[in-house]
Amino acid sequence: MKTIAENIAAIQSAIHAQNPDAVLIAVSKTKPGEAILEAYEAGQRDFGENRVQELVPKSEALPKDIRWHLIGHLQSNKVKYIAPFVHLIHSVDSADLLKEINKQAQKNNRIIDVLLQIYIASEETKFGLSAEEAEELLSSAAFAEMKNIRVTGLMGMATNTGNMDQVRREFRSLKTLFEKLRVQHSAFSIVSMGMSSDWQIAVEEGSTMLRVGSTIFGNR
Ligand SMILES: *Cc1c(COP(=O)(O)O)cnc(C)c1O
Repeated sequence: MKTIAENIAAIQSAIHAQNPDAVLIAVSKTKPGEAILEAYEAGQRDFGENRVQELVPKSEALPKDIRWHLIGHLQSNKVKYIAPFVHLIHSVDSADLLKEINKQAQKNNRIIDVLLQIYIASEETKFGLSAEEAEELLSSAAFAEMKNIRVTGLMGMATNTGNMDQVRREFRSLKTLFEKLRVQHSAFSIVSMGMSSDWQIAVEEGSTMLRVGSTIFGNR
């Protein structure tokens, strides 16, 4: 068994060989504070959690220079708990949620960076917007008035399948949409795609942010 630090070092070097600017997010959901600290002591600063109820206590207990990423589905009524400190919300999938994040960001006197989650998989269960819905949202009058939100890119999850050609096609479609939207949205700089099973393919397809959990921390 490799240590957490060794796992992070191996993934970092493989990612950076392809893209020196890509960011590795250590997905620490369900893992205890000790595991997060082990990664932190190895230099890791970006951590991802998918539940607000878990993210808030961890953020209170752990070092203050950790950048916390909310990567899972977010309910509007929970935004207020993370608005003071969250670094990046990856999972915005509706105009109502965007509006609530803007409101809570305003209350906290900050601008919150978010990604739009795009539905790229062929599964029924995944959250996300279609390409058309994302374009519509970004060009809406309501969005133009949200001054406390910055949409910095897109996030997607590929189908959970062994068919790596399909995974590659799905990642490529997300990257293509990103390139299209970037023409009109200068804040766009992030494509969040790739998890334990498919991060190598994601980097090859132009991911700039990898969300890796079990390959770092072990199975959940
Ligand atoms: C859990 C999770 C990950 C990481 O999954 P692993 O397979 O453990 O690497 C990435 N993204 C999201 C949205 C997740 O919920």
